[in-house]
Amino acid sequence: MDCIFCKIVNKQIPSALVYEDPNFLAFLDISPANKGHALVIPKQHYETYTDLPDNVLKELAVVTKKVAEAINKSLNPDGLNIFMNNKQAAGQIVPHAHYHIVPRFKNDGIRFEWPHKKYDDGENKVYAEKIRNSMQ
Ligand code: AMP
Ligand code: ZN
Repeated sequence: MDCIFCKIVNKQIPSALVYEDPNFLAFLDISPANKGHALVIPKQHYETYTDLPDNVLKELAVVTKKVAEAINKSLNPDGLNIFMNNKQAAGQIVPHAHYHIVPRFKNDGIRFEWPHKKYDDGENKVYAEKIRNSMQ
């Protein structure tokens, strides 16, 4: 598999390791939003959030929290952004599911923004119903 994060898991390429256990790994992003920006991955290759089996997702969430707490303790940021990009349209570059943990500091100049679009009258109910009806 020609996946850069699988190569990090297999130690074929180096990383600045933050956490490792038999199933998960956390390491520093090579091109960080702020210093200390970490990535948390399952060692097994899954492409996106919804591809993750529930048990893997649950454990990944717990590992992500552990890393987030350590970043808070060691770097004392004013805040954290924790997120995952899924598929190219959402900004995913590496197709191996990963949480970003970005330590944030007041006035660090980073902006997570969206255009705050508006629903037409009643359209939000239609969207909510569509989603509700697709839930398993
Ligand atoms: P995404 O856009 O969510 O797929 O994020 C991929 C992230 O992986 C980017 O922020 C890259 O800077 C980071 N990245 C790419 N290659 C490496 C690498 N070899 N080691 C650490 N981080 C990497
Ligand atoms: Zn992979």
